[in-house]
Formats: sequence, structure tokens, C-alpha cells
Amino acid sequence: MNTVFFDVDTQLDFLYPAGSLYVPGAETIVPALARLTTYASTHGIPIVSTMDAHTGADPEFATWPHHCVVGCLGQRKPEATLAGSRGRQHFITKQHVDCFTSAALLPLLAELQADHYVVYGVVTEVCVRNAIRGLLATGKRVTVLADAIKELDAEAAQSTLADLTTAGGAIGASTDY
Ligand SMILES: [Zn+2]
Repeated sequence: MNTVFFDVDTQLDFLYPAGSLYVPGAETIVPALARLTTYASTHGIPIVSTMDAHTGADPEFATWPHHCVVGCLGQRKPEATLAGSRGRQHFITKQHVDCFTSAALLPLLAELQADHYVVYGVVTEVCVRNAIRGLLATGKRVTVLADAIKELDAEAAQSTLADLTTAGGAIGASTDY
């Protein structure tokens, strides 16, 4: 089984109260993120890390508060999510809530040849949801780690997970790794 970890937008602006688009409670998943990052590094598992990378006048800011502007501290990822030189980490920057709008993603997935994607990060019902949808469309196994995601809207997050299982995906936990 060739597993790839899919780390969605675990960036400072989302994860911490001082961030400009803080997802309430997101800092509580950071220990799980740290464990997953270490596990991937020590087991040779590639990590695909998507990152919001907006310009100062991005059209998305009509919908969302300013966040993850390139060059700002909040756009960066915490240490807990960085594999460093020990890891096989690939960064996909994007300007849109759907990471599959990044032209670099599909060629990267083709290169990694995963059988199984393990998805975690934020925001559950927005960027994680789009990632799940795109990964399921590749026809591979998709598992979302329920204790390593965080939502803005509990109901929308529940429907995201329900849609995932309806589509044949699975729900797991970071402690499975
Ligand atoms: Zn964004």
C-alpha cells in the first residue's frame, strides 16, 4: 500500500487565535499534526502540503477576510507541519479553495502513485472538502482523520464527512499512525 499524506492548509492564519482567519479550536489539532508529520518522515511517507498563497487584492477576499497573503507571517506553516530535510514533503500553493485548481497538483499525484490518501487539515467544509472531492475523483482510497481536521461550521463539517463515506471514503484517526 503506497500511502500519501495530504495536509490541507495547516497555516498560521488558520491554526492560531492571532491568525487572520482563525478556525476556532484549530490549535488543538496541532499535536496530531506534529505526530503525523513525524510519522511520515520516519516511515518515508510523502506529504503533499497545500498552502493558500494570496495576493493582497485577491478576489477571494470578497468572500473571506484577508488571510495567507504571500510574504506575511500568517501564510507560513508551523514547525509541527514541516518535515524538514528528513521528509518527502511537496508544497502546492494555490489561490483558490480548490487545490485542484493548481496546475502542479495532478502531475505531482501522478508521480507519487499513491493507492491511499490520508487527508487532514483545515477548513473541513471548505478546502478539506474540495481536496476530498478531487482525491476521490482519482479513484484511489481516501481516509480523512477526524481528530486532525477543524471546521468553522459543525453542520457543514458533518455533511462533508457524510458525503465522504457515501462516496466510499473512510474516516480514521491520527492515532492510527
Ligand atoms: Zn484562501
